[in-house]
Amino acid sequence: MTALKAKIKARIAASGPLTIAEFMSVCLTDPEAGYYTTREPFGAKGDFITAPEVSQMFGELIGAVCLGGYEAIGRPEAFHLVELGPGRGTLMADFLRMAALRPAFLDAGELHLVEMSARLRALQSETLKAAPLTPHFQDRFQDVPEGPLILVANEFFDALPIHQFVRTKGGWQERHIGLDASGELCFGVGSVRLPEALTPASAQDAPLGSILETQPAANAIAHDIGSRIASHGGIALFIDYGYEKPAAGDTLQALHKHAFDDVLAHPGEADLTAHVNFEALAAAAKDAGAAALPLMTQGDFLLKSGLLERAGSLGTGRPHTEQEAIRDAVERLAGPDQMGKLFKVLAITQKGVSFPPFDSDT
Ligand code: SAH
Repeated sequence: MTALKAKIKARIAASGPLTIAEFMSVCLTDPEAGYYTTREPFGAKGDFITAPEVSQMFGELIGAVCLGGYEAIGRPEAFHLVELGPGRGTLMADFLRMAALRPAFLDAGELHLVEMSARLRALQSETLKAAPLTPHFQDRFQDVPEGPLILVANEFFDALPIHQFVRTKGGWQERHIGLDASGELCFGVGSVRLPEALTPASAQDAPLGSILETQPAANAIAHDIGSRIASHGGIALFIDYGYEKPAAGDTLQALHKHAFDDVLAHPGEADLTAHVNFEALAAAAKDAGAAALPLMTQGDFLLKSGLLERAGSLGTGRPHTEQEAIRDAVERLAGPDQMGKLFKVLAITQKGVSFPPFDSDT
């Protein structure tokens, strides 16, 4: 049994079942035994590989798109370049190499990394030690000082706690994690009901036992970013796997050593994520006064941003095996069966602004 599993069981025995959000939050961020606090999740030895770790082209293209966004918002004299949940810092290192092509961008930008894990902060500092900007670390987005914003978040929102509700005869009741007769962790339902106003139309006819998810923590951050952009200007790119419109379905998943795992099996040792509801993120940002550009799939976004051209120039004059690896990376990042379709890109902007490869707001 993991150390954290014993701690969670003791907590439930003492004070009752946990919501899915409480469980996720403990598993991922417990100060002593949480997944991000203690583990090395990324790369071949970890549990999963994210897009920036697949290829430098990912961070470079995000950098190029953000340079376009910087032009579109009128090249502010000073702005905060922010990344939420930077992992190993790879995306930002590749981003800044691309941004160095525009010295004015680097002169105006102040880098803020929002990261709760002290261990990952150290790794990010190491990755960025030769970068042209020195990071300021923040615990939460709200701690980033006011001012225009250029913000990137890759696979950040999927790690934030979600709530789940189960369709019962009594309506949508919150899903819990409690203890069964033999003292093992098990799912159950509590008495809290989902308010009628939060039930999407698409879920109204869902059969008994269906699961519906809400993401108040993610929506609150999207709202704060939208509010900052509405009052100070800026752009934000949210890249994650998720869905365009909400529907009933259980997307909570655990990944352990590159394989799906039972969600309750290895608390603190497996990554826990849920698919992101992009419609809700866009609505939260708009509610705060910002605009949201039409959602793109990651494949479309990267191809329209010049992925193939970048792959071509990166491969020129390189040995055959390297060219093959670059082709594999293109397939992995943009292929519809790989990350191309499931992953989406949402751009939040100040009103009246658009920039390639996004269509204008309609
Ligand atoms: N963007 C990186 C890493 C994604 S993993 C990549 O694409 O490779 C999620 C990241 O978000 C990790 O750096 C994790 O420590 C951080 N994180 C998770 N929950 C967080 C929270 N509540 N506040 C701040 N950072 C968080």
